[in-house]
Amino acid sequence: MKPYVFCPVCGKRLERAMIDGRERMFCSACSWVHYINPLPVALAYTVNSNDELLVVRRAHEPAFNEWSLPGGFLEAGEDAKAGCLRELREETSLEGKIDSLIGIYHRDIEPYGSVLALAYRVVVADAAIAINHELFDAGFYPEHLIPEVRIPLHQKIIKDAALYESVL
Ligand SMILES: [Zn+2]
Repeated sequence: MKPYVFCPVCGKRLERAMIDGRERMFCSACSWVHYINPLPVALAYTVNSNDELLVVRRAHEPAFNEWSLPGGFLEAGEDAKAGCLRELREETSLEGKIDSLIGIYHRDIEPYGSVLALAYRVVVADAAIAINHELFDAGFYPEHLIPEVRIPLHQKIIKDAALYESVL
């Protein structure tokens, strides 16, 4: 993530200062401080009634053309579960139900910087997929036929979801 150079409130050039235990950019004219917080992302580990996993092939950066779990950034004020289901619906037209939280993960991901990912297990009854412009492909696959998912965070979520299922 590129650092701010000018104050977004008053336009003065920002300066570095130690504030609340970290070096941050701040504005000496209006006291605005650039606190950098992680961006929340919801990811949907989505299974159908045959316990097949939904994976999608991305048509945009980052991870262009890579197989992944569907998901995206939460909107301001949006419930995380609702945002997870919205992203699933937008990308694939599938209506899902949240089953459980798999985990919460932090990653630094270019070009966004600090990202906080919430991974939910989502169940869908109907498997009629209609992908949008964000994807090249999407499908449900039984465990032994899942296309290779190479994004480390998504690999970790798939692994954690399997651990979760084994204790049920
Ligand atoms: Zn300012």
